[in-house]
Parts: sequence; structure tokens; C-alpha cells
Amino acid sequence: MGVFMLKGRIRPHTLVPILVLLLSLLLSGGVRSLAALAALPPSPLVILDAGHGGIDAGAVGAAGSKEKELVLAYALTLKEMFTEAGVPVLLTRTEDALVLGGEDEGQRGRKAKDLKNRAAIAARYPGAVFVSLHMNAYPVAKYRGFEVYYGAGEGSRPLAERITARVKKEVDPVYTRTPRAAGEGIYLLSHMTNTAVLVEFGFLSCPEEEAKLLEKDYQKKLCFCVFYAIMEEKNLF
Ligand SMILES: [Zn+2]
Repeated sequence: MGVFMLKGRIRPHTLVPILVLLLSLLLSGGVRSLAALAALPPSPLVILDAGHGGIDAGAVGAAGSKEKELVLAYALTLKEMFTEAGVPVLLTRTEDALVLGGEDEGQRGRKAKDLKNRAAIAARYPGAVFVSLHMNAYPVAKYRGFEVYYGAGEGSRPLAERITARVKKEVDPVYTRTPRAAGEGIYLLSHMTNTAVLVEFGFLSCPEEEAKLLEKDYQKKLCFCVFYAIMEEKNLF
């Protein structure tokens, strides 16, 4: 009986299994990942900016497809993907119209107003990732390929590189172009501090590429690359 009482008083013995468990958790990184999980920032807003709209058709393809219509379809596909993943999304436009804030499309200077309004939306959410969606065009039909421009805001270049790498790997290893700094030439990206990229999904002026850009499967593939890269870059998985 005395032996039992002695054992009961030696508390450290009972602590050993707990210490072993804690140690193994620490060594396996379990404790750290739990802590990291608790410190995970809330998901940032993703702003999907379908370029052009209304009186501004943007590029018009060899077969007559309009950039303003295609990029809105791409924006809606991307919206679905982010929503499914639980990431909040904001679209700068959901209709076939410039972003004029209720003003008449017919008045002068509307394109400048449209761009200012889009930049103002980005400024309202400085922590948001801003993704402007476009289609390219060039007078010479042979030019083609996916291309991303990046803004000066923090994280823009790495995001552009990640998107490009994914498209190169998953969709088009041949014609995908190297990402480029937006510079002053791209008003929207040079007027915001967000993590921002402008995606040119392809050249509507190249008949072969235009046909691909119109295919639903191709759209989904390209959108998935953009979606996936943002999820990876912002640690949202
Ligand atoms: Zn455009």
C-alpha cells in the first residue's frame, strides 16, 4: 500500500506521456501549423475588372467577336471559381456598359471617367487584389499569345509571374509571353497601389487564337490558371 501511495505522489511520471505528446507535436510541426492557422489573415478581396463596355467595344476580332463581351464572360467564370473557394469578389462591371457611376454614356470624356472610376474602386479597397481582364489586338494577324502586365504595387510582379508560369505549363507553352511592367502607358495600373495585374488573354486579331478564346473549355482553362495563381500567391488554399 505504501508503494502505491508513493507512486501516486510522483506526479512527473504521469506528466511524461503528455510531455512526449507535446514534444512530438512540436517536432512534427503540428503546434506551429496550428499557430500559423490562427494567424492566417482573412482572405483578401479580389476585384475582377472586365475592361471596356458599352460604346467602347475594345478589340474586335477577325470573326467579329468583341473584347468587351468576352472579358465579361471571363470575369463571370472567374467570379464563380473564387466564390466556390470562399474568396470574396467584386466586379467593376456586370453589364455591357462603361463604369460611369450612373452618368450618361454619351457625354464627352467618358473613357477617362470610366478609367478614373475603376481606379477609385481599387483605391476603396487597398488590400484587394486587382485583376483587369482584356484581349489583345494587333494589325498583323500572326501575333498571338497570353500576356500579363503588372503594376507597381507590392506583390504585383510575383503574381504576374505566377500566372504566366501556370498558363505556360497548363495551356500554352509556345506563345505565352513574358510578363511586363505596366508603366505609365497603362493608366489603370499606374494609378493604384494594390497588388494589380492586367491580363491579356490572347490576340483577337489572330483568327486561330480568336477561335480558341471563344471556346468555353479554353476560357475555363485560362481562368483556372489565373484563379489558381492568385490562390497560391495569397496563400488561400
Ligand atoms: Zn482592352
